[in-house]
Amino acid sequence: MKKAIYPGSFDPPTFGHLDIIERSSRMVDELNVAVLKNNAKNPLFSVGERVSIIKEMTAHLPNVTVSSFDGLTADYARSIGATIVVRGLRAVTDFEYELQIAQTNHVVNDQVDTIFLTTSLLYSYLSSTIVKEVASYGGDISKFVPEPVIDRVYAKYQKDDMRTDADNQTINR
Ligand code: ADP
Repeated sequence: MKKAIYPGSFDPPTFGHLDIIERSSRMVDELNVAVLKNNAKNPLFSVGERVSIIKEMTAHLPNVTVSSFDGLTADYARSIGATIVVRGLRAVTDFEYELQIAQTNHVVNDQVDTIFLTTSLLYSYLSSTIVKEVASYGGDISKFVPEPVIDRVYAKYQKDDMRTDADNQTINR
């Protein structure tokens, strides 16, 4: 049985991520999308929120499971019996970093190999950072993220706006 892991931050998950999930899930028996608990990044969504969003947007894919992990990807892969790590490549700029991570993972766990899927042309410009940037200015993100994600992203920024307004009122009084 071929089991793969697709690790990432997914903050938030985009159509680019979904494209990689759909294409790689057709190559293996099971694909585990694994949300990295990365405390260093100041996240928009909690790890639990990201797991439930990804579950919702992959509900149509029966061999896809979703979980979270911390520590090294190679160690987590070993613990769930995955021998393939899936990553997406958008541009040359992704390559150097991804190559280093892939080689490190192989040193940590020589049972694991990384496969890279090139991004679909439609999503080569797309990143979670772009989604957050556009949403923070109230822009249209419907071309970037699946339906279940749209309102959740806007809700995060609305809450921030309300907090700012409340703070301003307090200051003005
Ligand atoms: P990380 O912090 O691990 O880079 P991301 O959530 O940004 O987490 O990305 C997870 C993986 O998905 C990475 O391999 C990244 O290159 C890939 N990826 C992100 N956006 C796209 C996209 N638009 N097209 C293809 N792959 C993508």
